[in-house]
Amino acid sequence: MSAPNKSYDPVEVEALKPEEIERMRDEALAAFAAAGDLDTLQEAKVAHTGGASPLALANREIGALPPHAKAAAGKLVGQARGAVNKALATRQTELEAERDARVLVEEAVDVTLPHDRVPAGARHPLTTMMERVADVFVSMGYEVAEGPEVEAEWFNFDALNFGPDHPARQMQDTFFVQGADGTKDSDGGESGVVLRTHTSPVQARALLDRKAPVYIVCPGRVYRTDELDATHTPVFHQIELLAVDEGLTMADLKGTLDHMVQSLFGADMKTRLRPNFFPFTEPSAEMDMLCYVCRGDSVGNPDRPCRTCSSEGWIELGGCGMVNPRVLTACGVDPEKYSGFAFGFGIERMLMFRHNVEDMRDMVEGDVRFTRPFGMEI
Ligand SMILES: [Zn+2]
Repeated sequence: MSAPNKSYDPVEVEALKPEEIERMRDEALAAFAAAGDLDTLQEAKVAHTGGASPLALANREIGALPPHAKAAAGKLVGQARGAVNKALATRQTELEAERDARVLVEEAVDVTLPHDRVPAGARHPLTTMMERVADVFVSMGYEVAEGPEVEAEWFNFDALNFGPDHPARQMQDTFFVQGADGTKDSDGGESGVVLRTHTSPVQARALLDRKAPVYIVCPGRVYRTDELDATHTPVFHQIELLAVDEGLTMADLKGTLDHMVQSLFGADMKTRLRPNFFPFTEPSAEMDMLCYVCRGDSVGNPDRPCRTCSSEGWIELGGCGMVNPRVLTACGVDPEKYSGFAFGFGIERMLMFRHNVEDMRDMVEGDVRFTRPFGMEI
């Protein structure tokens, strides 16, 4: 163990010599001045003003001084620390101002740049067409009705007077859905569930759900086992109309059809009916509309041929008729009291002749170059 240091004089503490304090102060000021950014300044701040900095350690030495020396040393260190803190604050302000000026330049937003380069989405022309047709009837007081696309065979066929041997029930026309219990598979075609082949089952459902009178329009997607080609698609869209009330006749049907084509194609349009057969209507008719391009002027007029109607003057639109009383009975409506009319047609077909679309595949491939000319209605 060494002897006590007799020559020890606390006034002569090395860290508190004025030139040392001055050196510490100058080092701190130099470090702050050299800091080029706020991060470096933060490091310099910790090194020169933190608890372990030379000036802080020197300050701590003051406590060990004799009372008469404390005031002078305290003043010396205090002045140095004051100068250091002031320089730090000044440099901090300078660097913050520099950063703010740089951010303003670097992160400036050019409000004149185009903002709409991402094209807005739009509804498919088939949807727009279907809604346009439905709107005609909604404005006449009809209700839009919808039903399931995976449908019970009874609704799709039986309720609509399709006999058990009707060719539409064959596999070559209809998608049969495999039964949940697996006992009846799609090969047998006896699962009792089909992808609906027309929107007519919605009519049967509506008649069962509501009390007559019923005025509904049923737009929707339907399925048939057709290959996709220029004029066929296995998934397509129909819109059907059903009116059931007391005293409805074919004159009401004809007037409704005329109103529809006039709303869609112009005030001078008209329709004609040709006899046909459908299981769910009796009598049934094929409905044609006047060619909306030549208005019939191309008939017998070789100088003005019409491509749209092949110079026949009429365009086949769809099927219609008075609701078969057997359908009304199956759906719980008294055919002695009520009568009704119905008609339906394909949306794809109407879009094709209305807009000269030559290939049905264009409608299902989702290429915006096809949909864009129809307008970007949202
Ligand atoms: Zn024509």
